[in-house]
Amino acid sequence: MYSKELAELGFVVFRRQNDNGGMKPHLFIRFKSKDGRLLTFAVDTTRLPANQNPPDAYLITHAHSDHYGKSAMLSDKSWCSEETARALEIRYEKTYQGQTFKTGEIVDICGVPVQTFDVFHTPGSSAFYWENELGNSIMVTGDVKDASLLPKCDVLLTEASYGDPDDLSCYFKDDISALHHAVLSNVGKRRIAFGAYEFGKSQKAVSIIREMGYNGPISMNGKTLSLTESFVSNAGDLIELGIEDSASYSVRSATLSFSQTQITGQINTEPAAPGGVSIQAAAVAVSVQTSYSAVQVNLAESDIDCSSRADCSSSTVGSSRADDSSGTDCSSRVDDSSGTDGSSTVGSGTKCGTDDSSDCSICIVPVHELAMFGRDTQKYVLTCRPDYPFEIIKLSDHLDVDGLTQMVKNINPRVTIIYHPNKSSRTDRFSKHLIKNGFKAFSINQIQNIVKNEKLS
Ligand SMILES: [Zn+2]
Ligand SMILES: [Zn+2]
Repeated sequence: MYSKELAELGFVVFRRQNDNGGMKPHLFIRFKSKDGRLLTFAVDTTRLPANQNPPDAYLITHAHSDHYGKSAMLSDKSWCSEETARALEIRYEKTYQGQTFKTGEIVDICGVPVQTFDVFHTPGSSAFYWENELGNSIMVTGDVKDASLLPKCDVLLTEASYGDPDDLSCYFKDDISALHHAVLSNVGKRRIAFGAYEFGKSQKAVSIIREMGYNGPISMNGKTLSLTESFVSNAGDLIELGIEDSASYSVRSATLSFSQTQITGQINTEPAAPGGVSIQAAAVAVSVQTSYSAVQVNLAESDIDCSSRADCSSSTVGSSRADDSSGTDCSSRVDDSSGTDGSSTVGSGTKCGTDDSSDCSICIVPVHELAMFGRDTQKYVLTCRPDYPFEIIKLSDHLDVDGLTQMVKNINPRVTIIYHPNKSSRTDRFSKHLIKNGFKAFSINQIQNIVKNEKLS
């Protein structure tokens, strides 16, 4: 614990206790501004009760639930990017009460110029950087996917979601080829369901799938759909998973509860997996490249969701089929297409469900909903965690432990505080790892300054 060094730099970090004796999430930073005012900025925490002394600002790094914007967004002292505010409003169906900025801007927070930086973890995820009375700098990163824009600073507050150097699952690389392969090898044959967080990962998956040339419909629940429409400019044809789909899941409800129970409680933090997709990325990349142009038209054509007629008439690509499709019945068209002109399916020629062609669509759902799909659906989780009972495609919104370590080396702070994930031993493990690498570092769990019920006077 380097509180003396921190104090010499002109910063005090502390935590606050709830009325029930538990600890509020994350932490508070007290410092003097260049004009000599004592200020407190709260970092990724919940609002304080009205009868307690509030901080001068609530900084919200991004809109994931483990950063508590759901609560802080209701304070007029909160600060976050425009995208984070928009995502919070969609996710929680409440009006954001605070102030916003464009990520990358310098904003005036309580008279302090605060520089913001994109960390590429979610749309709008932002780091905050400012200087105190002594000219010493402090930076709060939140979760980080790409630290390349971050400047050097004296005090760094950062994360360790994958910060355990002794856990093999904290070493990973994104495997976008595996996502390509999953689409190319299944689309047109069977329904594909990807399990992904509704904000961040789902939008990234849609972007990748569209970039690879798939033009067919992508189904998702209403909240994910709203977020995707709001944050992905080329989102294409999105369909809300409807009652019919739910009904088809419900017949399997007896088997659902097991998997759901198994997964519940593991969703907010992301420890990772040594496993992953068995296919070699390089091999997949080659096959994607060689087969891509031939497959591209078929992808769009064969994956028509006939749950609505508009989809039927708008999704065709091949010219002859477009002609054929005009005014014909959806289901018969799908029947006609299978195997007759060779264009309807990718690979073996297995046709999509004839009574409900949504069986061969792509779905993106929260991970716990994957269990609702039957065995005829090919299921994947987009994650680096090892603990899901489905095939994993490695796609992370985070730096791995090597990336985090390199980030700290580049920023070269005088003191580093590992403040996230809240209530995780990874903060301790990563701070020890930094100390071994010659840095002064401590974890949120070691903070001994605790304020109890600082009531308004
Ligand atoms: Zn996050
Ligand atoms: Zn987080």
